[in-house]
Amino acid sequence: MIDALEQYDPQIYELIRQEEARQSGCIRMIPSENYVSKAVMMASGSCLTNKYAEGYPGRRYYEGQHVTDLIEILAIERAKTIFRADHANVQPYSGSVANLAAYSALLEPGETLMGLSLDHGGHLTHGWKVSMTSRFFHSVPYPVDGKTGLLDYTMIEDLAKKHRPKVIVCGATAYPRIIDFEAFGRIAKQVGAYLVADIAHIAGLVVAGVHPSPVPHADLVTTTTHKTLRGPRGGLILCKAEHAKAVDRAVFPGLQGGPHMHTITGVAVAMAEANTPEFVVYAQQVVKNAKALADRLMEHGFELSTGGTDNHLILIDLRNKGLLGKPVAKALDRARIVANYNSIPNDPAPPMNPSGVRLGTPAMTTRGFKEAEAVQVADFINKVVQNLDNEAVIEKVGNEVLMLCSQFPVPEHFIIPQ
Ligand SMILES: *Cc1c(COP(=O)(O)O)cnc(C)c1O
Repeated sequence: MIDALEQYDPQIYELIRQEEARQSGCIRMIPSENYVSKAVMMASGSCLTNKYAEGYPGRRYYEGQHVTDLIEILAIERAKTIFRADHANVQPYSGSVANLAAYSALLEPGETLMGLSLDHGGHLTHGWKVSMTSRFFHSVPYPVDGKTGLLDYTMIEDLAKKHRPKVIVCGATAYPRIIDFEAFGRIAKQVGAYLVADIAHIAGLVVAGVHPSPVPHADLVTTTTHKTLRGPRGGLILCKAEHAKAVDRAVFPGLQGGPHMHTITGVAVAMAEANTPEFVVYAQQVVKNAKALADRLMEHGFELSTGGTDNHLILIDLRNKGLLGKPVAKALDRARIVANYNSIPNDPAPPMNPSGVRLGTPAMTTRGFKEAEAVQVADFINKVVQNLDNEAVIEKVGNEVLMLCSQFPVPEHFIIPQ
């Protein structure tokens, strides 16, 4: 499909080819990124992009829906199956919109929302000050423990009792440990709040049973579809039957117009791929690789927030090395290791040049890296950090990275049993 583009728009074709080469010629360690299969690409690049389908299956505002209805029903059923949920809405354009829809299903403007502070690992849409979620709602952020970097459920419970939020949001973008959804559920019940669990990062781990599921404990579960779940960029909301109507109304017509049917089609394919023993093995390997990477980094004297990882990501605290995150992330990028600088809990440095670097294993695991390669990656990272001002060494590491990448070509196909 892409080859045909060369004829029609050679400029864009060339840029896509360049990006493809970049993605295969580097180690992609941004924990929210992954590689999707050709099947997902084909579905999300299909003629479904031509169709308007405002409404829901069986109750649309435009005609010509006999195929779109079948696709959306299939996507909904697959989502309900893999997450074991009563109800699924597959229309949110992204994780951010899924969160807005979740809040608008449960809250009136001005009511109180309690979410993990962004500088402690929460997402913008959990009520951070620059986000509309703190302008529409009264936002009470909770921190992680400043010393351990861990969620402190007693502190969260105390805050909840004090502020009596109507919604508690749990879930994170930079938290390397298991989240105790059961504890959050208990706290929410105690204070009469709804619990929203945002599993954008860990959805794939949850589906594979490598991280506990929030579905039994949360009123609503939101997620993206493109991180560990390995689908096209999009969002989902899962909920108990009692919230189904409110959720559907909040997404459409509350926030969105026509659903992106091409994306929903791609998400359906990705969810079939995720419902396989192969995907479980993948998710288990994601965690094994993160642990191997973490252990080796600590052997090299790196300090990690919370002292390690239980999931797909690692947060390096660079303070003991006397370094900041941005120059380290930039040097890693020159060595073909792509990560992002990130705040650590109680960071003394500003958010634009914080003390941490965030690393993730979902993409490298998709291309077949195992523990041995994860250890090699830790050694590369250490070498770069020890030679931040030595471009010759950084270039040499970059060449070794390229060699390693050439041994692990980006896979095109994942198995879907018929
Ligand atoms: C990535 C992420 C989102 C937002 O997803 P987008 O698709 O980028 O809008 C929301 N919540 C969490 C926890 C995330 O990590």
